[in-house]
Amino acid sequence: MLDFKQMVADRHEYAREWKKRTGGKVIGYFETYFPEEVAYAAGLLPVRLLAEHEPDIKSDKWLYGACYPVRDIVNQFLLGRMEYIDGLVNTEGCQWMFNGYEVITNNNPELFKHYLFLPDYTESKTSKDALRSELGVFKERLEAWTGKTITDAALDHAIEVYNKNRFLLRQICELRRADRPVILGSEYMNMMLADQVMDKEEMNGILEEFIRELEQREPYKDKIRIMLIGSETWNSELEELIEKYGGNVVIDELDNGTSYFWNTIFPQKDRLMAIALRYLGRPRQPIKESNWRRRPDHIAQMAEDYFIDGAIIAKQIYCHPHGTDNYAVWKILRERYIPYHYFERDNTVPEAETGMRIEAFFNMLRPGLTRLVGWHNKIDL
Ligand code: SF4
Repeated sequence: MLDFKQMVADRHEYAREWKKRTGGKVIGYFETYFPEEVAYAAGLLPVRLLAEHEPDIKSDKWLYGACYPVRDIVNQFLLGRMEYIDGLVNTEGCQWMFNGYEVITNNNPELFKHYLFLPDYTESKTSKDALRSELGVFKERLEAWTGKTITDAALDHAIEVYNKNRFLLRQICELRRADRPVILGSEYMNMMLADQVMDKEEMNGILEEFIRELEQREPYKDKIRIMLIGSETWNSELEELIEKYGGNVVIDELDNGTSYFWNTIFPQKDRLMAIALRYLGRPRQPIKESNWRRRPDHIAQMAEDYFIDGAIIAKQIYCHPHGTDNYAVWKILRERYIPYHYFERDNTVPEAETGMRIEAFFNMLRPGLTRLVGWHNKIDL
């Protein structure tokens, strides 16, 4: 079985090998709003840019004060670690990501670059036509770049492959609803990250094999069931620390976690419209949230469905989208009496400091210690 964590560590080598094997091009993206199906139909390998944590010797002068994920991605790019990337797309979203895109493309003029507008008001009446039109422009630009026509058959194939991938990820996610799941949050997160840097058709085969393996596994012992909310993460360090103190992340509402695959594409004759509707309808990232809020209800429903004991909200420092949206998340958790712990992090998770926070929070949740335990059962206030 593929070691997902190792796969994430070897992702640059994987992409280089893929290029050698197929003769194809690699296209990088930042946001999970990026419509990968269109790029996949053009024969490209869409790769999500993942942050590491290193001293930002290159990016500091360009992006001082930006969040660490963006600074680090830019740093890695400028250090030449992603020389295999042939093109870069920024999908309208977080401003820091856009700034990172600008710094990278200005410093690498040979890259194919494209700015893809995706309406912030995703439910507005005109949004679907606006995005449909943007996808048409993107398709034409890819065709001009690759010299290949993107046919309806190629789009159908891409939609089928990506829908299958979403189905398999959801199937594995459903196993986490068991009283005693057979998968830990850390393994799950590594699987998710591997999924976002690999060829989906290859990954689908690996996921099918993984599901067969999970069906044979013994469940893990009882652990405190945690939901992870907040800015995207780039490794499984936090999940591992939570496990060390007796917890398990059984569900998340992260951009590179469940929000990446939660909804599907319903095929229709107008393939680009079908893709547009899927991306507009996916679980909201804070930047795409409007007055008619959907994100808090989505979080509350997940909390119920996965029987969480508590939530951990981990925001990347300087992450404005999540910083401004947190009040709504706190509000819904309080209304539902769901215990939560909030903290700010960067790409690293300092073990001593973060461990102490997690341990203190878990002590509040352990049966018999406080009234917080079992919010979903009966609360005596
Ligand atoms: S962590 Fe926040 S600020 Fe940084 S790129 Fe992600 S959404 Fe944007």
